[in-house]
This record gives sequence, C-alpha cells and structure tokens, in this order.
Amino acid sequence: MTSYSELHETTYEKLREEIRTHARIVIFRHIKPDFDALGTQMGLYTFLKDNFPEKDVHFVGDGHPTFIPRLFPEPEKLDEDYFKQKFLAIVVDVGDRKRIADPRFEMADAIIKFDHHPANEEIAKVAMLDEESGAASEIVSDFCLSFPGTHLSSEAAKYFYIGLVGDTGRFMYSSTSTHTFEIAEALLKTGFNLSSLYQKMYEKKLDDLKVTAYVLNHFSVSPHGVAYYLLSDQVQKELAITSERGKENVNLFANIEGINAWCSLSEDLSPNDPCWRISIRSKEKDIAPIANKWGGGGHPQASGARLDDISDLDKFIGDLDALFIEE
Ligand code: AMP
Repeated sequence: MTSYSELHETTYEKLREEIRTHARIVIFRHIKPDFDALGTQMGLYTFLKDNFPEKDVHFVGDGHPTFIPRLFPEPEKLDEDYFKQKFLAIVVDVGDRKRIADPRFEMADAIIKFDHHPANEEIAKVAMLDEESGAASEIVSDFCLSFPGTHLSSEAAKYFYIGLVGDTGRFMYSSTSTHTFEIAEALLKTGFNLSSLYQKMYEKKLDDLKVTAYVLNHFSVSPHGVAYYLLSDQVQKELAITSERGKENVNLFANIEGINAWCSLSEDLSPNDPCWRISIRSKEKDIAPIANKWGGGGHPQASGARLDDISDLDKFIGDLDALFIEE
C-alpha cells in the first residue's frame, strides 16, 4: 500500500527544495494560537535548527496566556530590518491571510505552507494541504519524518505530539485516523516522557475550578441540544481570566447525552476589534458552515466564530440548533 509520504512525495520534494535553498527562514502560524499552531511551529523550528544548523531560523507570532512559557518559549521579536533581506516564510496551520499572526510573511521572497484548514485563498508558492488530517502537526511530522538525511529529535517530536493531541481532542475527534496513530507512534519512539507532557499540557490552577463552577452554574441548552455559556467582560474580570481563556471549559459538555454541540462565547473588548469570540464543538454534525456564516471557520467538529453584536445570540444559537432537528 502506498504510504502517506509516498503519496505526497512530489509536493514534499518541492517543499524540501525551498527549505534547502533558503538560508533565512521564518515560521508563521495563526493568531490566538492553540496547541496545534504552537506545536507545529515549534516542532518544525526545532527540526530545522537540529538538522540545518547553518540556517538562520526564527518563529514569530502573538503570545498565549497559559501555554507560554509553560509549554512553549516566548515568540521571537524580530525587527523590521530582518524582513527586508531575502527569506523563506513557512506558514503553518492557517487558511486565511488575515489570521496569520504576523503580516510580515508578505515580505518573503517565497512562501510555503502546511495546513489542514480549508484553503480559502492562495497564499503560498508550494503548499501541502490536507483537510482530512487531524492536525497540522500530523502533516508536518510526516514531512519531517520522511525528509532524507535528517533525524527527528525527541524535543521536536514532543512539540509535534502536543499539536496532534490538541487538535484531535486527545484522539477522539472523527479526524483521528490510522495515519494519526502511525505518526503518534513514530513521535513517541523518539523517547520523550508522555506522562509528564500530559501533566504539563492539562495542568490547572485551583482558581481555574472557580471558572468551571461558574460555567456549570450558568450554561444554557437550546431545544435540540446546543449547550452554551457566556463570559462577559465583567464576569471575566470577576473570575480573573482573559477572553482567550473563555473557551477552556467548552469541553465540559462533550460526551453528555442529548448535547449535540456546545460552545463558549467570551466578550473581547480589544479596542481595535471588539466582539464576542465563539468556540464551537460538535459531536457528529459538521458545524464549520455555521462558523463560516458567523465570521469564522474551522473544522467539522471544532470551529471558531464571532458575534459583533450579542443581540444576535438567539439567531446564532438558532442556526446551530436547526442542525439537530430530526428530519
Ligand atoms: P478555537 O475554538 O478557537 O479553538 O478554534 C477551533 C478550530 O477552528 C481551530 O482549528 C481554529 O484554527 C479554527 N478557527 C477558529 N477561528 C477561526 C476563523 N475565524 N477562521 C478559520 N478557522 C478558525
């Protein structure tokens, strides 16, 4: 049977050629990063540093309130001059230009991309795209594991593993495939400590339980099984969390009988773009079209969206609810 890497060999070779021919490389990923965006970016960064020490490789983007520095280093601050000389931009885990965390990828003389989001626009000269893939890190791990003459260190593998576990919902979403497990096996074989990694990924503070308690006391359920909770700016202040952290409790509603989809809505009063940020998750039905309609996008079982006006809440929940009306 043809393996995944054999199937994509032509694309992989074009991507390898771009990497081989560029001395300066900057790795970009999406804004408001999750485990997969950061894991893929840092896994690839570590792989390139390990195998091409003569190259000047960097990673940029916005921070994260809890994953950095617990799991990942602070993103690098590169000044404007860096981007004025020839460099290769590698964009990972993002489909839309406007969601790339640093707009200076546009200054690159070549852009290549690895992603598993629907490609809404063409950004790269060469791209390895696979919407079926459970995580961007699954694709990039496969690429690195089949890169001739290189090795994958346990440090790089650990980062990729974080992405794999994060975006497949710990191997539970329907995007998890036999290939996901093949990659997990190859990554684990490099020898990092799995239980201490899980401990670090999912560790909470005692105060986080107050947020969970708030969510459990204030959620609503629509007629056809859409569970949702709202965290206004006022409530976030009372709970001492930021809007980015609002979605951390969303999966409390996974695996509950009669709940078909679940979402968190967190008010974000950033002066440049105030809105309610929504994370949507679903048991089976594809919620990505609803996310697209409401200013976002993503995957069938995990998407993001936004409400510019909270008075649209009933309409938004109504759209989701309608997915579950039995024909
Ligand atoms: P989140 O709820 O923020 O964890 O997002 C779930 C998934 O949807 C992640 O894979 C995100 O990359 C993706 N996603 C979130 N927001 C958007 C958006 N505005 N456009 C496209 N994809 C998104």
